[in-house]
Amino acid sequence: MTGGGRNLRITGPTPLPPATLDALRRPMVSHRSEEFRSLLSGVVRSLRPAFGTAEAAILPFTASGTGGLEAAILNTVAPGERVLSIRCGHFGERFAEIAAHYGLEVVALETPWGRATDPEALRRWLRTAPVARAALLTHNETSTGVLEPVGEVAAVLRRERPEMLLLVDGVSSVGAVEVEMDSRGLDVVVTASQKALMAPPGLALVAAGPRALEAAARHPARPYYLDFARMRAATEEGTTTYTPAISVVFALAASLERLGSQGLPRVFEHHRRLASRCREVLAAVGLRPFADPLHASPTVTAMLTPAGVSASWLRRRLEEEASVFVSQGRGAFKDSVIRIGHLGFVDGDDVEGLLGAFRAVLREEVATG
Ligand SMILES: *Cc1c(COP(=O)(O)O)cnc(C)c1O
Repeated sequence: MTGGGRNLRITGPTPLPPATLDALRRPMVSHRSEEFRSLLSGVVRSLRPAFGTAEAAILPFTASGTGGLEAAILNTVAPGERVLSIRCGHFGERFAEIAAHYGLEVVALETPWGRATDPEALRRWLRTAPVARAALLTHNETSTGVLEPVGEVAAVLRRERPEMLLLVDGVSSVGAVEVEMDSRGLDVVVTASQKALMAPPGLALVAAGPRALEAAARHPARPYYLDFARMRAATEEGTTTYTPAISVVFALAASLERLGSQGLPRVFEHHRRLASRCREVLAAVGLRPFADPLHASPTVTAMLTPAGVSASWLRRRLEEEASVFVSQGRGAFKDSVIRIGHLGFVDGDDVEGLLGAFRAVLREEVATG
């Protein structure tokens, strides 16, 4: 068990490995010191394989993941321009909401919750969709447990709209699922410290590729704090524009060391295995997969609760009976979907413990209900 008695299986924040917890006790240093510069440079280097990039600038903003999504839009899309929102759930809607908030025109291709974007439907849609600066995509839709076919979506965009940028929310994928930013031609990929990267909340990690950096350089009204160009210049000197979440950088360094020593292919396989075990056992106790099984996420499993069982009741009972913490559905599915995060620091015993708790709680429901 990884969580010290508490089985934290929400979709984030995720539990911290022991060495990461220890790193949080490190005394403060100056973020302009040599010690910090070498640490941050190491963190940036170690993040490259998780993003799958040799060429992107990796920009650590002190913010949650949403701050990183906001940065992606504000640096690459100018006021008055349009974005295409390719979405299949809550986080896709949020990404578009940020663009709309800044007055950008948003045109959406919506796929029903629980399904993944169909690349062929996207291709047809793009033939008539209006001209736009960028497309917004959520790699792993945490609200529905769907992993989008990002490689195929990117290939269709490159073919149909080669001039358009592709901005990707990789908050619940980077570090647990193959991203392959360079080979797939993703222009910006955003993640956050508190999910698969096994660090506390506090850092939005933004990988900005050459085309995105070029768009930022030409941008007429870049943001002040979330400026790509200035953060890039700072990271080239091993530091950040303003005081970063230094303790989170310490913790992230420890977790990245762990990821590096395990090797990403093994980590990806570990997550796939846990996800399929979750789906199999939960289906056997009467829950039905919410996500299309062909596109089920390796990091988040979303299941429809059995008829007559409310997700809030189930979530509460799991907490009270077994100290198992899971998430409920979002939006219209708040009380009919249960979501389990099995990303980052999680082992087979955690998942077996969680599944045992589901069995016990649902047996009790059958007995008394
Ligand atoms: C967790 C998450 C976010 C960001 O959430 P923050 O609370 O802002 O860190 C964004 N997108 C996805 C897909 C997520 O899973």
